[in-house]
This record gives sequence, structure tokens and C-alpha cells, in this order.
Amino acid sequence: MTKPEELIQVIWQAHEQDLVSVVRNIHETPELSQEETRACAWQADLLKAWGFSVETGYKGIATAFNATAGTGGPHVCFLAEYDALPGIGHGCGHNLIAGVALGAAVVLKNLLAHHNFSGRVAVMGTPAEEQRGAKIDLIKAGALKGVDLVLMAHPSDGATSPYAGESGIRQFMVSYTGKPAHAADCPEKGVNALDAVRLLFNGVDAWRQQLPETSRVHGVIRDGGQAPNIIPDFARAKFYLRDFDLKFLDQMQVRFENIAKGAALMTDTALKFSEIPNPYKPGIPNDPLNQAFFRLARDAGMQPQWSKPSRGSSDFGDVTYEVPAMHAYFNITRDNPDISLHSREFARAAGTDFAFSQMKKTARILARMALQFIIEQDFRCKVTNAFMAP
Ligand SMILES: [Zn+2]
Repeated sequence: MTKPEELIQVIWQAHEQDLVSVVRNIHETPELSQEETRACAWQADLLKAWGFSVETGYKGIATAFNATAGTGGPHVCFLAEYDALPGIGHGCGHNLIAGVALGAAVVLKNLLAHHNFSGRVAVMGTPAEEQRGAKIDLIKAGALKGVDLVLMAHPSDGATSPYAGESGIRQFMVSYTGKPAHAADCPEKGVNALDAVRLLFNGVDAWRQQLPETSRVHGVIRDGGQAPNIIPDFARAKFYLRDFDLKFLDQMQVRFENIAKGAALMTDTALKFSEIPNPYKPGIPNDPLNQAFFRLARDAGMQPQWSKPSRGSSDFGDVTYEVPAMHAYFNITRDNPDISLHSREFARAAGTDFAFSQMKKTARILARMALQFIIEQDFRCKVTNAFMAP
């Protein structure tokens, strides 16, 4: 009988060219969140050609899709992302996330067919990670119902590593309305909304010293008045609050709103405090999945390292509350410390042969993990138990 690695190699070679061409196309045609129509169509066409049943416009989201193959259980799902960043294209390398998901799925589909194993394999296309967080809309619409395992992998400017978890995030728009007046001739007739925003920032800075190391608060001013000779009657700031703990995020939100109210009270302005939809929950790691990824990445020569939880946030966090899941990272920068995520240099790195070779290794690792989950009851129990009691 063929050894698993040899069989995977044969399957991979039969599909690699078409896969890399789609990944290249997505890289060369960056599309922003919720506008990923071409990326979505290219992936759907390829998955159809590979024998998957594909549903586009999945759960009413124009650029989401779901592709499935196989029958019976367990049901494993690989998540693809494919949105780009304004101005810098694929500076987060989401073209490679799509490549890993499709590559892992086609390997697993053929492995299951070869061995006549029961099991379902899916690729779910999850758009708009950078802005809207469509995974949350998909979860609300029941897209993960019946799924037993979710795997995905993201390119990285750091080491190849398992999923150590990440911060949750809540986003707020804080607007103040005052009254305009000539700033020199009759300032006493004005109510200054920019003062409220300045006091909001000062209040946050006074709070910051007492925040634990796990938290982050950061904001920008979106409107701060029109001209120095007009008392600003409208000013607005956007803030992000982050922490690893959901309950603590609740407390942070109460305190932040109180600071915003205080600034309104001090300036006699009217406050509008609104939360931006789809907050991301803090991601929870799954140790058995992480251990399996670490071992396979080491065997593949990817020099994995255990990392600290990410201080960034992703809509993947919410997935970890629904189903056993892992979001691994794979290095594509040859550890060049001058290249960082969300930069033009990283976008360039996401289109190199080295990135494609790392994508290939990672896709094959995820396929092997998924196969292990499907055929080894002991592994499946460990993963599921770790999910139930993290
Ligand atoms: Zn990303």
C-alpha cells in the first residue's frame, strides 16, 4: 500500500498548477472586504472542477461560498479568506489562506475517496475579515451547524506556529454635537464638540495606567471641526477596546462609556455612543490540535515555535466558541525582521515561490490533521473534550 505522504504527493501534483494559478490571480487582483467577487468566482469554479458541490452567495452573503464533498461524518471544514487591504493589496496574504483551504480540501477529499472512508469535507469562503467580520454573520446564520472541526492557516511575518489565541475586540464610534459660533467674535455663543473629544482622549489616558497588561485601548479622531475660526459643532472619534477576557471586555465597555459621558457633561455637548456591529470574541486555543500541528510542521521542516497569544483580533475568535478549531500561522518572509503584516513588503512576499511552498506544506499538514480527526476516534475525543473544557 502507498505510504500516506506518497499518496498525498500524487494528489497534490495533480492539482497544484490550477490551485497556484487561482492563488496568483487573487494576489494580483486584490479586492476589498465585501467586494471579493472575482476571488469568490475563481475559487468556486476550481472547486466545482474538482468535484465539490458549491453554493455561492452562501447564507445570503454575496461573496461567501460553501463547497462540500464526501458523505457521512465526521464533517471537517477548512476556512478560506480572500479580502485585501485598501492601498496595499494583499498585505495580510489572504490569497494564501484561500490556497491552504482549497489545497487541504482537495487532498482530504481524494484521501477519503481513495480509502473509501466516511466523512465530509468542506471549504467555506468567509469574506471581509478585515472589515465586516463575515464569519460572525455566517455563524449567526447557522453556517457551522453540523461541522465537527474547523481548520485554517494564516501567513505570518513571524515563526510558523500553532494557534495561541488572540484578543477580542469591540469597536465604538463616539460623536459629540455642540453649537457653532465665530471663534473670535462671539465664542461665548458656541458649544465646542472638539473639546469633548479631547477630554475623551484625556479620560482614556488617565484610565490606561490602571488597565491590566492584557488590555489595549486605541482611538483616532474622525472629525474635529472645519476651521479654526468656527467653534466645532461636531466631532467624532473611533475607538477599539481589546482584551483576552470577555467579562473584562464588558467592564471595559462600561468604563469607556462613562468616560465618554463625562466628556459630554464637562462640555455641555450631546453624546452619541454607538457600537459598530460584529465585535470579535477572544480566540480560544485547542491544545490537541495545536500539538498535532506543531509535530507535523516540525516534520515538514517548517521550524515551528510556540508563540504568545496574538494582540490582534480576528473574526476567527468567534469560531472557537462554536466548534473545535485551529488557526495556525505559517512564515512567508524567511524570517526577515523588516517585513511586517499589513505592509506593501508583506503583500509582495505573499506572491513569491517561497510563500507558495509554505502554503503547500501547510495545506498538506491541515489535510493530515483532518484525516486523523476523521479516522482516529481517540484523537477526535481529545480534541472535542478540549473544546468542551478549554
Ligand atoms: Zn489577516
